[in-house]
Amino acid sequence: MFESKIPSRRELSTLNACIPPRHQRHASSPQPPSQQIELTRRSPEVYMITRHILAARLPFLSPRFNPRPFAARASAQRSIPFQLASLSHSLHTTPAVKMPEAAGAPVPHEPLVGKTETQQPPKQKQPKQQQQQQQQQQGKKNDKKEKKGGGAVTELNPPPEWFAERIKIFDDYMAKYNDFVAKQERSPITVTLPDGKQVEGTAWETTPMDIAKGISTSLADRIIIAKVDNQELWDLTRPLEKSVSLALLDFDSPENDYEARQVFWHSSAHVMGEACERSFEGCCLGYGPPLPEGGFFYDMNLANEKTIGPEDYKQIEEISKKAVKEKQKFERLSLPKEVLLEMFKYNKYKQHYINEKVPDGTESTVYRCGPLIDLCLGPHVPHTGRIKSLAVTKNSSSYFLGDKDNDSFQRVYGMSFPDSKQMTEWKKLQEEAAKRDHRKIGLQQELFFFSDLSPGSPFMLPLGMRIYNALMKFIREEYHKRGFVEVGTPNMFNSKLWQTSGHWEHYSKDMFLLKVEEEQFALKPMNCPGHCVAFDHRERSYKELPLRMAEFGVLHRNEASGALSGMTRVRRFVQDDAHIFCTVDQIGDELLGAIDFLDAVYKPFGFDYKVGLSTRNPEKWMGDLEVWNKAESSLKDVLEAKMPGRWHINEADAAFYGPKLDFDLTDALGRKWQCGTIQLDFQLPERFNLSYRGPEQPNADGTGNFHRPVMIHRAILGSLERFLAIITENCAGRWPFWLSPRQVVVIPVAALYRDYATKVAKAFSDADIYAEADLSDNTLNKKIRNAQTQQWNFILVVGQDELDAGAVNIRNRDDEVQGREETVKLEEAIAKLVKLKSERQRISKVA
Ligand SMILES: [Zn+2]
Ligand SMILES: [Zn+2]
Repeated sequence: MFESKIPSRRELSTLNACIPPRHQRHASSPQPPSQQIELTRRSPEVYMITRHILAARLPFLSPRFNPRPFAARASAQRSIPFQLASLSHSLHTTPAVKMPEAAGAPVPHEPLVGKTETQQPPKQKQPKQQQQQQQQQQGKKNDKKEKKGGGAVTELNPPPEWFAERIKIFDDYMAKYNDFVAKQERSPITVTLPDGKQVEGTAWETTPMDIAKGISTSLADRIIIAKVDNQELWDLTRPLEKSVSLALLDFDSPENDYEARQVFWHSSAHVMGEACERSFEGCCLGYGPPLPEGGFFYDMNLANEKTIGPEDYKQIEEISKKAVKEKQKFERLSLPKEVLLEMFKYNKYKQHYINEKVPDGTESTVYRCGPLIDLCLGPHVPHTGRIKSLAVTKNSSSYFLGDKDNDSFQRVYGMSFPDSKQMTEWKKLQEEAAKRDHRKIGLQQELFFFSDLSPGSPFMLPLGMRIYNALMKFIREEYHKRGFVEVGTPNMFNSKLWQTSGHWEHYSKDMFLLKVEEEQFALKPMNCPGHCVAFDHRERSYKELPLRMAEFGVLHRNEASGALSGMTRVRRFVQDDAHIFCTVDQIGDELLGAIDFLDAVYKPFGFDYKVGLSTRNPEKWMGDLEVWNKAESSLKDVLEAKMPGRWHINEADAAFYGPKLDFDLTDALGRKWQCGTIQLDFQLPERFNLSYRGPEQPNADGTGNFHRPVMIHRAILGSLERFLAIITENCAGRWPFWLSPRQVVVIPVAALYRDYATKVAKAFSDADIYAEADLSDNTLNKKIRNAQTQQWNFILVVGQDELDAGAVNIRNRDDEVQGREETVKLEEAIAKLVKLKSERQRISKVA
């Protein structure tokens, strides 16, 4: 009954890749207010299923954009078991957590697959209460907020009856389980550590924690979770059942995108859930996952329609603290379906998950910490004492299963760390990120704005357009150097195109549809199908390959209005998109070229980046195995040659149409952003029946030498809008000279020198530098102060001396020692700044 073994990789068949297809998947630290109300337009299950199928088929749907502070990428995404036959049974987001085979379908305590970025209904549909919450989360002070911290901390006394009932069942079965374990054969096993060292142990007795203690106490105190055979996360206190290889992960272990952190935050969600159960009457917990960007939430329904607000944070935090102090063990137990139903009879949501996800006659696991017993696949930290610091960060509303026709939930968000110092640092980072919020800087500097008349579609103002154009110019110059050609393809297409490409079936809900003369059309959400048409408009020869087709096409995706967030999640955007059509033999060189391109583009921004290579999933792939192998080995060779030590493999994580590379940038605040992507695609050329004529002689009928090209989708900046948001926050509005919309301001020391100032400004303008003369009536000091606040890169002061000498006096914003000035001839100054602009340096040095 309790038999358990480690499932093989194949059994764990994961749904790969699935870069979140939303092109603006976002999770930067300043939580955008609009994300704080999590209402879903349709069930997240449906949403995610669509996503997964979609991302599995359509590369270009999913570009980039998964910024992840703390690098905590949803490794979850990679571990979602994928069984088309029973999709609804197999979805969960627990990182690499697997059930014993005998135990049937996995049931996490977050059975909804939805991530936080569930789609949300139009604003007007939000109940009033939620709107108020939203306003409050947008930072509008209200009375509630000020109450935070007030109020006495109390616990339900007596606790709900089902606490004891749950525990009774748990204890009964735990006794049986202990008997079972006692009866297992204690055979010797060998545990192999990552450094190759081997430790002897005993099956069903030795735990990863024992191994850790054997190495050092400090290690044992620090580790969060174990990983066996490089595939399954394993509770530290769970006995090993056979010889394994064992890795011990702590909070900072980078393995698999910091998966240990996800375990930590997942465990923290239990602690917060426990605190809520102990605090609020009729607390029925729903779904409580860790968040890829860090932290966690728990959804719950409370008696008497109680809502949770900031006034409750202290209560939740204090009871959580109690649970942490008690060092409650996380205890794992597998229970038959009928027992689970009995155990959770007080909670209709958990019952729903059990009924939906645990097939009859099978089992699933629960975990206990303190009085809380939760339906969950685990794994967890060994005990709650590991969660040294836990804070409730915000709250919102949601619906059970994300469906507005279901019960409404209170969603409580939290953040936690193994060390309170990390919490302090994290809070500081949040403050800094809020200061740099691109929406704020965008308005302050008059770069862009949004209007309710077209939600999610930015209005670029003249100064913002200067930055936008500088980005495009940069990419265009590189296109020119690197043999790319630019094309322009239509914005709307007949649905026939989308049927051919496969978007119609899987993506049409996310497209803007329109009728044109009774025919169904749609605005394009990506350029690739149009590029296939452009490739195919006439016969192609091998001599034309590789054909590198680029387009700054305007794309539209039908994001729900509630999900929109500044420039990071928009409906209308432009990508630096290109598709390379090439032969199989050219893949290696093209990849090398693409990585070199990426490197050249990221350098001027000062971004450090890492690359993940997603390889073939043996269970889900299409095409020719030889082509795959060749492509993967090209990718590995290229990465090893270009960036040794800065890349990792995401095993079996590729979408089925081809392997891919994802590029994660790290910004000035240490936040991760996924921008660039290079994806091989063996599928779209099939769907569009693309071909080129090879060098061989054709048959008599003119056929016989046609071949299928490979397509490489690649983008570097990703969406320009989103990239603009990232760089705005990265430089906090202090633009490097080449990108700056305010490059040179000329200030006359007195009215007498206005003409000269105007002449100087014009001379710079003529040299293609953004220059203005400040002819206002302000005092000299005030003008200089204004210029500094507005982040002009260079302030040129002109008076009699300068006029006489045909010169300017240069103050450089980037000079460390301010006040250091330099007087140079006008022509010389122009030449210096033109050179500086063309060099795209981050720091402006003219001396
Ligand atoms: Zn594409
Ligand atoms: Zn759990």
